[in-house]
Amino acid sequence: MTKDSLLAELRSIVGAANARVDTTETACYAYDATHYTHHPDVVLYPATTAEVSAILTAANRERVPVIARGAGTSITGGAVPIHGGIVICSGRMNRIVEIDTENLTATVEPGVVLATFQAAVEKLGLFYPPDPASLSVSTLGGNVGENAGGPRGVKYGSTKDYVLGLEIVLADGTVMRTGAKTVKSSSGYDLTHLFVGSEGTLGVITQITVRLLPLPEAKRTVMAIFDSVEAAAKTVSATIAAKVVPTTLELMDDVVIDRVEAYRPCGLPRDAAAVLLAEVDGSQQGVARQVELVAEVARNGGAREVRVASTTAEADTLWAARRGAFAAMARSRPTIIVEDATVPRDRIPETVARIKELCLKHDLQIGILAHAGDGNMHPLIMTDLRDREEMARVARFVEDLFQTTLAMGGTLSGEHGIGHLKKRYMEWQHGSVGVEMMRRMKQAFDPNNILNPGKLLPDQGEAASDASSLLD
Ligand SMILES: Cc1cc2nc3c(=O)[nH]c(=O)nc-3n(C[C@H](O)[C@H](O)[C@H](O)COP(=O)(O)OP(=O)(O)OC[C@H]3O[C@@H](n4cnc5c(N)ncnc54)[C@H](O)[C@@H]3O)c2cc1C
Repeated sequence: MTKDSLLAELRSIVGAANARVDTTETACYAYDATHYTHHPDVVLYPATTAEVSAILTAANRERVPVIARGAGTSITGGAVPIHGGIVICSGRMNRIVEIDTENLTATVEPGVVLATFQAAVEKLGLFYPPDPASLSVSTLGGNVGENAGGPRGVKYGSTKDYVLGLEIVLADGTVMRTGAKTVKSSSGYDLTHLFVGSEGTLGVITQITVRLLPLPEAKRTVMAIFDSVEAAAKTVSATIAAKVVPTTLELMDDVVIDRVEAYRPCGLPRDAAAVLLAEVDGSQQGVARQVELVAEVARNGGAREVRVASTTAEADTLWAARRGAFAAMARSRPTIIVEDATVPRDRIPETVARIKELCLKHDLQIGILAHAGDGNMHPLIMTDLRDREEMARVARFVEDLFQTTLAMGGTLSGEHGIGHLKKRYMEWQHGSVGVEMMRRMKQAFDPNNILNPGKLLPDQGEAASDASSLLD
C-alpha cells in the first residue's frame, strides 16, 4: 500500500474535513509544552470508537506510528510524534456520556476538558478532585495517559485513584473494556491501572469511567510566610507528622514568588524566602479546626506571618496565581524546563537544600515550586535551548537531581510521566528486570511498536549516562 492510498483510507474513515496533512495545519501538533518538536504526517479527528478502531487497524497493518493526543500540554515530550506518523486528536470525542448521581460515577470521552467536567459535576453537588494546573485546557484522556495530579494530591491522590474502568482500542484495532462501574473490583489483573499513566504506548483510550465524591461543604485557604526556605520545607514535614492532612500544601520559594508577583500581582510577599499555601476542606466546623492546626504548625515552624483568606475571591486569586506560576516563570528566559522529582515527605527539607546546592554547583537559575504536601518537587529551570554549554549544565543538574531523589527512595515522576524526557533514567528506578518486564508488556499489547514509539521506555542500549544528549 502506498502512502497516498493509506491517506485516502484514513480520510474515508474520519471524513476529509477531519483529516489534516497541510503542514500549516499540522504544525501545532508537532509540539507539546516541552522544546521537543517533530511534525506528524497526518492529524485525524475521529468522532467514535469505531473510527479509532479502523484507524488503528490500518496503521498496524502499515506499521505507521500512532500518537493519541488530548490538548498537547504534556511536559515530558509525551505528545510529540518524534517518529512522525498519525496523530489521533480527541477533540471531537468530548462528550460527558453520563453522570450517575446514585452510584457517584461518571463516564466521559477522552477529549472532555477537565475544568468543563469538574464544573458539570460540581453543579450536581459532586466532586472530581484531580487538579493539574493545566485543568482549563488539559483533557481527561491526557490526564489518564499521564496519571496527572495536582495540589489536591495530598488528601485526594491523583487520577489513578478515581479511574474505575476504561474502553481502549488496542494496537490492532480490537476494542477492550476494563474494570467495572463499581467502587471495588478484585477480578484478575488490574488492566485499568496498567493503562493509567501508560502515555498512549499500550492503546488509545476512548471512554473513561471515574468515581466521584460529594462536594465538600466548605474550604479555606491559608498562607504561611517564611524568612527561610528550609523552615518552610521543615514545616511541610511537620504538618504531615502532626497528622494534619490539608487538601493542598504548596511551597513557592523566593524566585517563584518574585516572578509570579511580576506577572500577576496577587499579594504574595516579595521579601519572603518562601510561602506555604494550604487549602483545607470538609464540614464548616472541621475546616475551622484544620485552619487552626495548619496555622499552629506553621507558627511553630517559624512562619513570620500566617494569613487566612477571608473571602472566596481572595482565595481564588491566590490559587490562580499558583496555577499561573509556570507561565510566570516562562517569561524569564527563552526555555523553561519543569522537573517532577518526588520524594518521601520526611525527606522534603533535605531535597530542597540539595536543589539549592545543585543550583549553585551547576550555576543555573532555578525556582522551586512544589506540591510539597505529597513530596512532589517541581524545580523550574530557566535556561535557553540555544546555549549548548548551559544546556549541558542543565543535563548534569537533572542527572544529579534524580540520583538524589532515587537515593532517598523517591520516584522519577510524581505526575508528569516519563515521555521522551526521562526514559533514559528508567533503569535507575526500576532496574534492568523492571524495565525488561515493562518491555514485555509493551510487546504483548503492541507487537509492532506503533503506539507512541520512543516514549516511556529507554531505546535499546540507551543509558542514563547519555545525559549529555538529554535535551536533543
Ligand atoms: C502550564 C502547565 C501546567 C501543568 N500542570 C500540571 C500539574 O499540575 N499536574 C500534572 O499532572 N500535570 C501538569 N501539566 C502537564 C499536563 O497538563 C498533564 O500531563 C495533562 O494530563 C496532559 O493532558 P493533555 O490533554 O494535554 O494530554 P496530551 O499532552 O495531549 O497527552 C499526554 C499523554 O497522554 C497520552 N494520551 C492523550 N490522550 C490519550 C488517549 N485518548 N488514549 C491514550 N493516551 C492518550 C498522549 O499520547 C501523551 O503521552 C501541566 C502542563 C502545563 C503546560
